[in-house]
Amino acid sequence: MTGFFARTLRAAKAADESADAPLAPIEHSDHARRVELLDSFEKAGLGWFWATDGQGRLIYLSPTAGDKLGWSVADVIGKPLTDLFMPEPDEDPDRNERPLAFLLSARNSITQLPVRLLGGQDEVWWEIAGKPEFDAKGRFNGYRGSAKDITTTRETQRDAERLAQFDSLTGLANRHRMTKRLSATLKAYRNSKRVCALMILDLDRFKQVNDTLGHPAGDELLKQVAARLERIVGSKGEIGRLGGDEFHIMLPDVDDRGVLGELGARLIQMISQPYSINGSRAIIGTSLGVAIAPYDGLDTEELVKAADLALYAAKGGGRGQYRFYSSDLKDGAKLRRQTEEDLRDAIVKDELRMFYQPVIDARTHKMIALEALMRWDHPERGNVPPSQFIPVAEDIGIIKQIGDWALHEVCRQASEWPMELRIAVNVSAIQFAHDDFPQTVHHALQASGLKPDRLELEITESVFMGDNNRTQRMFEELKKLGVRLALDDFGTGYSSLSYLQTAPFDKIKIDQSFVRGATEDGNNNAAIMSAIVGLAEALSMETVAEGVETHDELKLVTNRGATSVQGYIFSRAISHEEVLDRLERGDLTYEPKGPAKYRAERKTVFRRIGLIHEDHRYRVVLRNISKTGAMVEGLLDVPLGTEVVLDLGGGQLAVATVRRSFVHSQGLEFETPLISDGADGLCTRYRVSPYEIEAAGRPLAALPQDAYSLIAGPAAQHSPRRFLQVDPKPSSRAW
Ligand code: C2E
Ligand code: CA
Ligand code: CA
Repeated sequence: MTGFFARTLRAAKAADESADAPLAPIEHSDHARRVELLDSFEKAGLGWFWATDGQGRLIYLSPTAGDKLGWSVADVIGKPLTDLFMPEPDEDPDRNERPLAFLLSARNSITQLPVRLLGGQDEVWWEIAGKPEFDAKGRFNGYRGSAKDITTTRETQRDAERLAQFDSLTGLANRHRMTKRLSATLKAYRNSKRVCALMILDLDRFKQVNDTLGHPAGDELLKQVAARLERIVGSKGEIGRLGGDEFHIMLPDVDDRGVLGELGARLIQMISQPYSINGSRAIIGTSLGVAIAPYDGLDTEELVKAADLALYAAKGGGRGQYRFYSSDLKDGAKLRRQTEEDLRDAIVKDELRMFYQPVIDARTHKMIALEALMRWDHPERGNVPPSQFIPVAEDIGIIKQIGDWALHEVCRQASEWPMELRIAVNVSAIQFAHDDFPQTVHHALQASGLKPDRLELEITESVFMGDNNRTQRMFEELKKLGVRLALDDFGTGYSSLSYLQTAPFDKIKIDQSFVRGATEDGNNNAAIMSAIVGLAEALSMETVAEGVETHDELKLVTNRGATSVQGYIFSRAISHEEVLDRLERGDLTYEPKGPAKYRAERKTVFRRIGLIHEDHRYRVVLRNISKTGAMVEGLLDVPLGTEVVLDLGGGQLAVATVRRSFVHSQGLEFETPLISDGADGLCTRYRVSPYEIEAAGRPLAALPQDAYSLIAGPAAQHSPRRFLQVDPKPSSRAW
């Protein structure tokens, strides 16, 4: 027993002594200690060694190399080195190294090459290095190399890259990444003749949310917007936030404007649904511009510029719209800038006027009130409609000024009328958001002497956005002044009956878009209208049906119980002088005048276009156009059934058949219907492709206005012209 203890004690002592002894350096010749060192390096998992033979087969790999992946080194010995790793993608634009297989077969040195290992549940990455070995005769003997695990460094690096490429608020791609992705895609697609659409969205009224609910609420709103966009776009495209409230959506391989229009409309609809933010309700909208490569632009700069112009036009067109790029929009952008500039002086220059549209009692057809609608009498452009300048006034921050002017003007004029009719004034949500709004109303009433109960303020649902208590207080203050409140545009988008219970409205105005569809079969607007009217009656509110144009619409809204009607069937808005004149005569009764039924939208136009028949291109005049057909003038006696192609400009070709023909005018039916361009215009789904023009021997470029002539050329006109071309003069008005 003693012997055993003595031995172990001695051994322990010896170990202690050796630890204290000064370290002897490892000599180059001391193979055993060098191998020991490498062994401990391998065991600690700090790195591994590998070697291959002249045929590229593994002849050595550190025993611990497979631990993390669950394979044993014995299984891989004898296999090619490249078998350990995931195959590398051929076309990775982010990669600047040569692939491993290439380096090996060229017998190049390998330095710091990242490779991903096969097997295992999680991603494992190594960085490998190696040198080719040659014997004295210069024969290749395989590689000797090392490897280390770089999985965690790579992850941190990738997180940093993520931060640099993605927006930290929404997790969407940021400007940097979006631009890079779009550039790479457009460049690659140019070679493979593919197409790519770009949508640019800009939120409407976002600033208002930020101002009324605060920045954290604005941030929360942006997150929810991003989530809605992702849900709708899904894997069809990539979404980025380019800063502020601007979003880009890249949609590879889409050029069907029907599909893009539907997607655009859906995005607008979804973004316009109310948001709940920390218990507050917020409502915003969005406008959207669309451009498609290569039609509207070839590179990133050109395409973004085109989509931006389209967005600009969508905003100018009254918001909540999408718009496709077309080359005429360049003029639109100029027009918008001009509008902004001129609008600032419109009040001082006395260019704004108030017009008045009668509101008619549904039973007696007598005028019971008027709605004041603003008109801008521009020195060069004539009458600019409010849909074109009110949103601009809101954007450039002068709506309060213009709105206050309108209130004063209307109260002043109405106080001059010989009869005490009620007068309604439209109030922008931005005007309503100013704390001194009730004071402004009070001043306008005092200055004019108008009785408060004659004044009705028309506000839209967007005032319910933001602080509910504040809105409620505002209502109370206004009611204390004795004015009436009307809820305008009811039935557009996010209508909610819940407002009606708490807000002290005297009237609901049923929007014209609601009236318009109501007479069509299978449309449930009429049933909803009955429900609204019923609810309004229960709450002792009046109802006005807006935008009634036809006899069948009038009949329907009257039957459904609307108490009053406003629309072209009775009268458009008239000037103050005309109102005075009518009231002085005591002439309050209106006769309904208008078409019996609503016709599918058919726009009267006068525009020169091309008509292609056989090898010939004729110049004709487009007189009217709808989704399904068009009327043209300029050819004599074209037989029924003749098939032609209309060149509507900008590469838009529509195949059509002659269905009616009288002397020099023809009614044509399109083979495939046109689609909405987002505004009140129409366009074709597809256009002549710039790739086709390129194939015809031209340089690749975005579509010019006369795209068709570039593929057809003047060459092929051998056959005789079939039809005689005549020159139609613009007649006063087609209908
Ligand atoms: P709104 O308040 O919905 O006004 C009704 C619009 O429908 C008016 O357009 C009116 O001319 C039009 N309308 C009336 N009957 C018919 C019809 O039978 N058929 C058709 N197609 N349209 C009809 P307007 O005057 O162009 O005004 C457009 C919008 O501009 C107004 O829509 C209102 O939101 C805004 N607006 C007009 N004046 C003012 C104003 O003084 N202040 C503010 N903040 N907004 C205004
Ligand atoms: Ca109105
Ligand atoms: Ca309205």
